[in-house]
Amino acid sequence: METKIGVNVRPIREVEDENLGSVSLKEIQTFFRKGGDKKKSAMSHFTPVLLYPYLDEKKARLNYPVIIGGNSERPVPLSRMIDELIEKIGAEGDEGEKLRRALLRLEVEMKSWTDPNKIYTLADLWQIGSEKLASKIDEKKKEATLGYLKTAKQTLGLEGRVLTCSDKSIGALFGYLWSSSWDSSNKEIDKEVTELIAKLDDILRVDDAKSGKAKRPEYLKASMGAAEIDYNALSNVLSSVKSTNFLPVERRRRMEKNLRTLRNYWGKFKNATVDKIKAHDCVSALKIWRDQLPDLLQFITAARTAYLEINSKYVKFDKIIEANLDENDLALSLPILVDMTVDKLDAENRYALLEIANKGLPIKVLIRTNKTGSKLAQRAMMQGNLYVMQTTASHTEHLISGFEKGLAYQGPALFHVYIDDSPRISTYLHTASALESRAVPAFDFNPTGASWAERFDLSSTPQPESEWSTESVVVQVTGGGGNEETEREFCFTLADFLALNSDFVDYFMPVPKSSWNNAMAPIDDYLKMDDVKGKIPYISLVDHNGILWRAVVSEKLISTIYSSMNGWRSLQELAGINNSHVQKVIHAEKERLEEEKQLEIAAIQQAHQDELDKTVAEMTETIVSRIAAGLLTEGTSAPLISLAPSSSPKHVAPSEDSVKEVEVSGTDHDVADEEDEEEESFDDPYIDTPMCATCNECITRNSAMFAYDDNKQAYIKDLSAGTYADLVVAAEKCPVRVIHPGKPKDSNEPGLDELIKRAEPFN
Ligand code: SF4
Repeated sequence: METKIGVNVRPIREVEDENLGSVSLKEIQTFFRKGGDKKKSAMSHFTPVLLYPYLDEKKARLNYPVIIGGNSERPVPLSRMIDELIEKIGAEGDEGEKLRRALLRLEVEMKSWTDPNKIYTLADLWQIGSEKLASKIDEKKKEATLGYLKTAKQTLGLEGRVLTCSDKSIGALFGYLWSSSWDSSNKEIDKEVTELIAKLDDILRVDDAKSGKAKRPEYLKASMGAAEIDYNALSNVLSSVKSTNFLPVERRRRMEKNLRTLRNYWGKFKNATVDKIKAHDCVSALKIWRDQLPDLLQFITAARTAYLEINSKYVKFDKIIEANLDENDLALSLPILVDMTVDKLDAENRYALLEIANKGLPIKVLIRTNKTGSKLAQRAMMQGNLYVMQTTASHTEHLISGFEKGLAYQGPALFHVYIDDSPRISTYLHTASALESRAVPAFDFNPTGASWAERFDLSSTPQPESEWSTESVVVQVTGGGGNEETEREFCFTLADFLALNSDFVDYFMPVPKSSWNNAMAPIDDYLKMDDVKGKIPYISLVDHNGILWRAVVSEKLISTIYSSMNGWRSLQELAGINNSHVQKVIHAEKERLEEEKQLEIAAIQQAHQDELDKTVAEMTETIVSRIAAGLLTEGTSAPLISLAPSSSPKHVAPSEDSVKEVEVSGTDHDVADEEDEEEESFDDPYIDTPMCATCNECITRNSAMFAYDDNKQAYIKDLSAGTYADLVVAAEKCPVRVIHPGKPKDSNEPGLDELIKRAEPFN
């Protein structure tokens, strides 16, 4: 909300005080289910927490009072006028500060002494405020303060009237803006009509000049004016010359008639004032429209004919009737005002309003209402050709801009404005609460927009994208022997607004802090819960002493709040906020993208797998080739033997003798011996030499036992040059695990049991 000046707002305190009484859980639960008794309600002592800081309204710089007809072109709140005045005077330093303070104090006084049922002139209210202020200042400072006010008064000029937040003011503001709007369109029409009149006049004058009448001495004298000329002689000479090319008689008559019509109609309407075109309901407005319609049709016919005559394009056209008036025709008419209260909107007036909308008549209807939850403005929007504004009297900025736009629109307009007072708080704060709580959302529908998004605008409602309007408030928590200030967020819900209304007080039960319990949930949270079993909704209130309370909201009110929320959500959807169609499309699009992503991931994984398989296949081929190459180097024709952990050629150095041994092998009688050898060979140590990574590890450990072959790959050169422990450790260190220690040869080597165990994973 707006800022405050010179206000020491009492802090809101959260304190457990037994003097505030207590309420049992059972009482709370019973109240929640059944509600209470209006007569016993204590709600009149409480204010919704977000409203509390604004209660001292005269010290808060709010939207009212509003100055109209002052120095500013548009209506302006008093507080802004004072700010602009301070800036305009431009005093600096100490003097500037003193002047600023004097004017702010004057602002407070002017607000304090404003009677809401009166409309003051700015000069009068300034005078009242100055006198009241002077009476409060001590004598020493009085002269200086009054000096500042005098300077400010001279700078400002004090033109204009002061409007407070009242029924009367809404009508006055509407009328004032109508006058401003009519003044500017009046100038445009006047220019156009004057031009048409002048041109028609010119054509007729030229025609006159050709006539015998124009050749008479008195006419010649009047038009030429020179005294020394003999006008009788001149008349005789001119009359002897025969004129040709006169306007056809019918055309001349038509032009004369049009000229008369243009002058008459425009003369009648151009100086119109609000009083002449203001109706008290829609039925009367239609009557005014019908009464002026014949004149208007004649005027439009005359203007259209004149235009064609001037441009030598005249052709006879169909008679203009109400049904075929277009936007340009209506722009020439005088917009009629209706200022009425909602209780006058009976069946007859509803029908008249419908007719105004259907025919697109230039009638601007202001309906002041004290009822919340009305769908009148929303239904009117659906007509499509009606400018619609719904707002509250507190929202002056929206009120002014909506009036201006609706009055500038060529067709009909409906302004649905909520204003109601409350016995507890001012009219301004009450209507502002209706707006903040979404009881009366503020919106515009402008038929001139190209798309729905351009036509419908919800941005005048505070925080339109949210469920509720939310603000932070500082709370001083007292307890445990100390005070702590915390900033907390509170929502202003429909329940907060209804808590101000005497018709609903029996739905709220204030509960002091000592009786708060875990079942209680802030109403905004409660309304979002899927399962509310065992939960009790509450709103936060402040009592006269600034102490924070909770008020349990009866279950009976919950459906009303849900229904209002649904209405608000529908408006949000219309404004494209959380639109369910859009949400659906977004959800479907998200799913589609997710599906696409999963397919992409699967494709990438498959590609990786293929690449891996290919690499493994290539590596296997390389290894096999190496093994084969290694064996071929040894001169054997049985390379696959090298894959089995069997014969000595795998773990001893390739030598000429060994090659010979292999050459003689392969005969039948040796098969049994060979199998024996293979069984034996599981106990012998060996290295898968072709797979050695040439890391030096085993060589470094025992270069007598291990050595590299010609391919620089390790083999067991001399088993007897080391111990079983050397083999086991080398096997453990080998990064490619190609050393197989086998069984120990020396059964006396120390620690064999453990070494055999360690060797197991490598054999
Ligand atoms: S430790 Fe393994 S990889 Fe390294 S040289 Fe010895 S056998 Fe080859």
